[in-house]
Amino acid sequence: MSLRNWLGTSYLASADKDPEQAATDAAAIVVISDDSRLRQSLRDLLQAYEHLCFGANDCASALALHQRQPADLMVVDLQHPRANEHALRQLRKILPQIPLLLISSSADPATARRFLELGASQHLRKPFVPEELLTVIDTLVQRQRMEQRMAEIHQQLTASEQRHRFFVNNSPDVIYMLDTDGHFVFVNERVTTLLGHPADQLIGRHYSELVHPDDREAVRFAFSERRTGLRASHGIECRLLPSSAANDAAAEAVVIELSAMGIYSHPDQHPQRQFIGTYGVARDISARKQAEAQLQFQLSHDLLTRLPNRALFHDRLKQAIAQAHRNQGGLAVLYLDLDRFKVINDSLGHQVGDQLLQSVAQRVRGCLRESDTLARVGGDEFNLLLPGIRNDQDAATSADKILKALETPIELEGVEVFTSCSIGIALYPRDGETLDQLVRHADTAMYQVKKRGKNSYQFYHPAMKNLHSRHLTLENGLRRALDEDQLCLHFQPQMAVDSGEVTGVEALLRWQHPEQGLVMPDEFIPLSEESGLIAPMGRWVLDHACSVLADWSRHGLRDLTLAVNVSARELLQNDFNRYVLDTLERHGVAAHQLELEITENVLMQDMDQAVSKLRALAEQGIRVAVDDFGTGYSSLSYLQRLPLDTLKVDRSFISAITTADERNAIVTAIVAMARGLGLNLVAEGVESDAQLRYLQGLGCPKVQGYLIGRPMPPQELLRRLIA
Ligand code: C2E
Ligand code: MG
Ligand code: MG
Repeated sequence: MSLRNWLGTSYLASADKDPEQAATDAAAIVVISDDSRLRQSLRDLLQAYEHLCFGANDCASALALHQRQPADLMVVDLQHPRANEHALRQLRKILPQIPLLLISSSADPATARRFLELGASQHLRKPFVPEELLTVIDTLVQRQRMEQRMAEIHQQLTASEQRHRFFVNNSPDVIYMLDTDGHFVFVNERVTTLLGHPADQLIGRHYSELVHPDDREAVRFAFSERRTGLRASHGIECRLLPSSAANDAAAEAVVIELSAMGIYSHPDQHPQRQFIGTYGVARDISARKQAEAQLQFQLSHDLLTRLPNRALFHDRLKQAIAQAHRNQGGLAVLYLDLDRFKVINDSLGHQVGDQLLQSVAQRVRGCLRESDTLARVGGDEFNLLLPGIRNDQDAATSADKILKALETPIELEGVEVFTSCSIGIALYPRDGETLDQLVRHADTAMYQVKKRGKNSYQFYHPAMKNLHSRHLTLENGLRRALDEDQLCLHFQPQMAVDSGEVTGVEALLRWQHPEQGLVMPDEFIPLSEESGLIAPMGRWVLDHACSVLADWSRHGLRDLTLAVNVSARELLQNDFNRYVLDTLERHGVAAHQLELEITENVLMQDMDQAVSKLRALAEQGIRVAVDDFGTGYSSLSYLQRLPLDTLKVDRSFISAITTADERNAIVTAIVAMARGLGLNLVAEGVESDAQLRYLQGLGCPKVQGYLIGRPMPPQELLRRLIA
């Protein structure tokens, strides 16, 4: 009997069904039968319906076939019921998932049930019409595929859910959701590592339990944020309490930055839209805060002795003066200078010199009260502020104590070093009412001690003004210097680290003294600032420097920038800006070629005026640099107010780069900060290859220092640049 006849026309018709449909429904089927004719006819039938069909006469060959071509279903049709049972057992054991259709002639319901118990997916009783067989197969295959798909989907969902859970729980930030009353409905596991609270125990608790009491009011709004998008809360700082705070009041709070937004049901459908809570992300910024605090400390302290630096001292002194003024109280400023420090430094070396300074700082500090401020303001110079001092006697007692403390020799590297110091004292308000007067008068008094034989103290006295003739001679000499053309400029190259090319120069003032030879600016700039001579001197510098630059430009050096130092008193002159612009024009120097270097202290004299003048100049294209960065009043916030282009890291930080010790941390921090603020950076005082390499490693773009070139007369630098 031909198969077609056996099947009848209706099957043939459906055998020609939509090929796509057939393809999706087609299954791989293994027919296990020990009757080869039956096997063949079943195969013919199934293949006519586009199923892929293989015949096997026992389980072993069926399994072998399945190995080569995984089957979607197996039809078992063995002649002996025992053989069927055996086959079912075997197949189920090895292929627990696959649908097994058992065909037998048994009419006994118990036998049928037994087949099902043994793992048959369905029992089909012979005789059956082919239609019945095909439907059963179809159903079994569909069901099997559906189950498979479900299992896959389930697996995918589980994986995706796990993935999300993983991301959320391993997020570096705390992610949480609050209900409309501020209770946690969700918080990720980051809260456990950050604060020690198990995440699940926070559910239902109010957020305010985690917030530092002093911050609660400030962040109330952010934690109940209803807004979304850009208007929602961003970057709100606050402190969160660790779980240990419950038993330990001193437990350190964690500083975080909070962003939060409202969540809504049906966010896009207005009428149904309903506020259901707040979603937020809290980022731990304690490391950043610590770094900022560390930078602030480093910028306001001398790193060798860890004492306040001059800037911090001036801050404290100003405050103390204001307070003394209010309370009609008094205070004392002591100027301390070590005797013969230079001799010790030169004979025993810098390292011993450094250790000596540290030991002296420690001893002097041991003589002081909590409220006193000792600062290192120069190589071997210290300033001391004693608030609440009303008479000479109180100040003298402190000075005596200090001199006494230094009497015992200091042992350094096995050598006993004897040291002493000279102390000048000025009292507020008797000897001066301003910071400047007090410091200067204490200095003058100290100078008298030095002249009289050191290792003692001395109060300031108005008569000393004339005794302090060093200043007067200098001032007269300086006036003559201006008139008689004794000033000259040296130029020091600045190099781009990347290309090794000289990209600019700094003009540095020198005084060609008729008797003393070349006098350096540190010796006469402070006095010329005090006497007002700096204004005409500064004009001379700018004019002269621009004429040199114009000359170099005629030699083909067109792209150099020219850095010129500007003092506060110069900048605050009424017509300073006009003079600068006129000078540039007169010499044909482009505005962007000029960079004005100001120190942080310049800004502090009159911040508002300085900022507005510099802004006006910056608008014309003139560049602005902060010089000696890190030694002055380093409030980082002023940097943002200034139209700044460049930071010049002070030489003292660079000279500290000898080894990878803590003192380098500040250079690293400044380089990173400059990059963060988009500023150009010049490292000053680069003297060694090691320093250059270190700075290059940090990504510092520009350097200046003896390694690249000392300050030199313009003709000499020109020769080098065009060589
Ligand atoms: P500054 O502006 O920070 O200038 C850098 C100083 O560091 C210069 O000292 C320079 O000679 C010195 N220097 C550069 N490289 C190295 C190095 O590798 N090692 C060492 N040990 N020193 C290096 P200089 O010329 O004595 O000037 C001292 C300060 O005087 C200047 O410091 C600046 O504040 C002031 N100054 C110089 N010229 C002028 C000026 O025309 N006007 C004003 N207002 N101040 C000026
Ligand atoms: Mg400078
Ligand atoms: Mg400098």
